[in-house]
Amino acid sequence: MRRHTTLKIGGPADAYAEPRDSETVVALVRYCAAEGLPITTIGGGSNLLVRDGGIRGFVLATRALRNIERVADAQIEVDAGLSTGKLLSSATKWELGGLEFLGGVPGSVGGGLVMNAGTYLGEFKDVTTAVRSLRLRDGELISRSNAECSFGYRSSSLPPSEVVLGATLTLEHRPTDQIKEVVTALRARRKEREPAGANNAGSVFKNPEGDHAGRLIEAVGFKGTRIGSAECSPAHANWFVNHGDAKAADMLELIAQARAKVRAQMGVDLVLEWKCIGED
Ligand SMILES: Cc1cc2nc3c(=O)[nH]c(=O)nc-3n(C[C@H](O)[C@H](O)[C@H](O)COP(=O)(O)OP(=O)(O)OC[C@H]3O[C@@H](n4cnc5c(N)ncnc54)[C@H](O)[C@@H]3O)c2cc1C
Repeated sequence: MRRHTTLKIGGPADAYAEPRDSETVVALVRYCAAEGLPITTIGGGSNLLVRDGGIRGFVLATRALRNIERVADAQIEVDAGLSTGKLLSSATKWELGGLEFLGGVPGSVGGGLVMNAGTYLGEFKDVTTAVRSLRLRDGELISRSNAECSFGYRSSSLPPSEVVLGATLTLEHRPTDQIKEVVTALRARRKEREPAGANNAGSVFKNPEGDHAGRLIEAVGFKGTRIGSAECSPAHANWFVNHGDAKAADMLELIAQARAKVRAQMGVDLVLEWKCIGED
């Protein structure tokens, strides 16, 4: 799984599939249901820590489902696997604004919906009208409205027992130049703050209300702590990076130590933003 995650960490999956259309997803889901094989769904792998023992059953990666269509004046239908970058560039070309918040956020639409990914400029919740998914148990198609997704801070109620196939997004008319200006400014701001180069998966912990996880980790003197090739980045304390051959066990130990120090010294329980999957 290290080949399929931005952290470049993770043991093997029993089986891995990247279906190119939703009919193949349906066929795979029905096959696994009939054979009693578990399915783990992933998108771009940019928010994932896969444990060293890997993943039993099928990994279903939706990143090859990439259609996007303008279905109404300011409305688009997009498949789960389209990258957030491609989504933003298509909307910009159509002079549709509302997705500027995605400037520099990696991953795919499916992961973005499940995580309610975003920045201080906005999040998926703001543009999502409906989400289409498939129930893994029986291949039943489900459609949810925005309210039914219960989007919260880096969370949604879209369950791991379903694979998200796509969404309807509602945007607003905005000149291309205006969109580009906002996105360029966001990217520049990110570049200043985020560690460049090393393998990572974005923020490790969610920010506690009214504070920043990075500030707390830095305040307890944890910044720069290293276990094997896993390091709490000296550039940004809420980014843990893999310098090459880090194991999930190293990363999990780093996470546990950061949490314990922040709890003991600052009285705050940090909540993980990364999704940890697989077996030890
Ligand atoms: C350099 C960097 C910067 C980042 N900056 C930000 C940021 O500014 N803001 C932010 O919010 N995040 C950020 N992230 C985290 C990450 O990009 C987002 O969480 C992103 O939305 C994850 O999308 P993904 O497709 O990679 O999902 P994955 O990492 O593959 O999966 C994330 C979760 O979504 C589920 N999932 C994915 N696709 C599907 C699907 N089709 N159906 C059902 N479940 C699915 C997975 O099971 C998992 O639980 C950053 C990551 C990196 C590496």
